[in-house]
Amino acid sequence: MEKKQFQAESKRLLEMMINSIYTKREVFLRELISNASDAIDKIYYKALTDDSLVFDKDNYYIKIVPDKESRTLRVIDTGIGMTKEELETNLGTIAKSGSLAFKKETDLKDGYDIIGQFGVGFYAAFMVADVVTVISKALGSEEAYKWESTGADGYTIEPAEKDAVGTEIILKIKENTEHENYDEFLEEYSLKSVIKKYSDFIRYPIKMDVNTSRKKEGSDDEWETVSEEQTVNSMVPIWRKNKSELTDDDYTNFYNEKHYGFDKPLKHIHISVDGAVRYNAILFIPESIPFDYYSKEFEKGLELYSNGVLIMNKCADLLPDHFSFVKGMVDSEDLSLNISREMLQHDRQLKLIAKNISKKIKSELLALLKEDREKYETFYQSFGRQLKYGVYSDFGAHKETLQDLLMFYSSKEKKLVTLDEYVTRMPEDQKYIYYAAGESIERIEKLPQAELVSEKGYEILYFTEDIDEFAIRMLMNYKEKEFKSIASGDLGIESEEEKKEAEAEAQENKELFDAMKGVLSGKVKDVRISKRLKSHPVCLTSEGDLTIEMEKILRQMPN
Ligand code: ADP
Ligand code: MG
Repeated sequence: MEKKQFQAESKRLLEMMINSIYTKREVFLRELISNASDAIDKIYYKALTDDSLVFDKDNYYIKIVPDKESRTLRVIDTGIGMTKEELETNLGTIAKSGSLAFKKETDLKDGYDIIGQFGVGFYAAFMVADVVTVISKALGSEEAYKWESTGADGYTIEPAEKDAVGTEIILKIKENTEHENYDEFLEEYSLKSVIKKYSDFIRYPIKMDVNTSRKKEGSDDEWETVSEEQTVNSMVPIWRKNKSELTDDDYTNFYNEKHYGFDKPLKHIHISVDGAVRYNAILFIPESIPFDYYSKEFEKGLELYSNGVLIMNKCADLLPDHFSFVKGMVDSEDLSLNISREMLQHDRQLKLIAKNISKKIKSELLALLKEDREKYETFYQSFGRQLKYGVYSDFGAHKETLQDLLMFYSSKEKKLVTLDEYVTRMPEDQKYIYYAAGESIERIEKLPQAELVSEKGYEILYFTEDIDEFAIRMLMNYKEKEFKSIASGDLGIESEEEKKEAEAEAQENKELFDAMKGVLSGKVKDVRISKRLKSHPVCLTSEGDLTIEMEKILRQMPN
């Protein structure tokens, strides 16, 4: 049987691809810059094994040149360039990646920074350009060639003039239409911000000529505009630097530069892992609550980079909900990306990283609690509620992770205490961890039941937030001590004798209690004698699953 090749309508395929892969047009620049960086990397790797080649970092750069008049944007690099054949195979074949082939051939184990792999990124240029021209001179070659295409109608290749080795890509930026505006891709300011956003940590300088005004020489009040070459990207990502070289200010600057928040971060966490999955991360615990934090609009997530190139702005899968306040970024070379490089193919690596990060956040928070109580309390005032939601959610799946991070106001200490501190100072005869729920500390202090428990010398935790009691119910116990509301029927405080006494008194006054029950019928379930009241004549208690406070909260909730 004869085996046939699939026919593909390449024009249509190209169009479909260009318009469906990417969610944002601006990523075309990320793709072209990544290719330029790969091209320089290839010289770098070649020089490692070829003695006739010297890699002097100063000679290698990427330059971006917009020109409004001719409506062109040029992306120039001093990389390895392409021969006529390479122009044909790499740019003439969709899904052909010369970079992937290079990676395989070179067989370098470490320091793999080459970004390309799918062989489609280049065509992103057609999202913003009608005509794409590539002039390239390959390393070791005397001739240069020009490749040109309007996208749909194929391409041409012809000899060209070019002095230096490298590649120059010229985009003829599309005219604006009624609905689409392309002018931003000729605008110095917006180009700079796109570079900063996606390509800030490309290892080679990305240069632009920037107009700046300065005082004319020899004059005090005359200004002139001069064009100055600037490097737009920061190049060395802070997360690849050695921790010991970095100061607190470096981290704070990074936090502000990346617009993670306007506050000063309370703490930074710098992680470098070189294990089953390799990654670097810089995480921040903010000082203050983002204005929309406790609203539906808030989006959690960390920035995700693959080899220094931004892939996702807010990767939600990297953070569990209970740590959703954490800001920062993760960079990994081990991610398997999908073709648009905006999403991940498999989430196995991501899951590993997320698990790892979560553990680290917990241990860092515990360390903060130990080492800088005041800071921890500042953190807790802002985000403690989120931790408590975390204990309650997913049927208590995260309670082990979170219980040691919780704090409640203590009747004894008159400040926030941890559960561990509470349990450690419990008198020997105390069976339960007592708590009282109420609107405010002042209100709870006036509860009749509080008196008896306090008089026994027992500490009470005050629950003033709606979530508190629900979270604790999910926890059930801490270090084998059960939680008990001081509003519950049996406090476990009365001795057998006291119980008997109460029983007898109740029998004696049975008629009176029955009469009261009759009057309050429908309002209370039972009227009983109490041995626990000191200065108050009556108190309300509850039995069963819900306490009075919980019932109140549930009644307030919209159904
Ligand atoms: P990828 O980068 O995923 O390989 P692209 O479509 O972005 O796919 O690029 C296709 C190929 O074209 C690259 O693998 C590389 O071989 C070649 N190429 C693209 N841009 C350049 C450049 N500036 N210099 C040298 N080669 C390039
Ligand atoms: Mg590419």
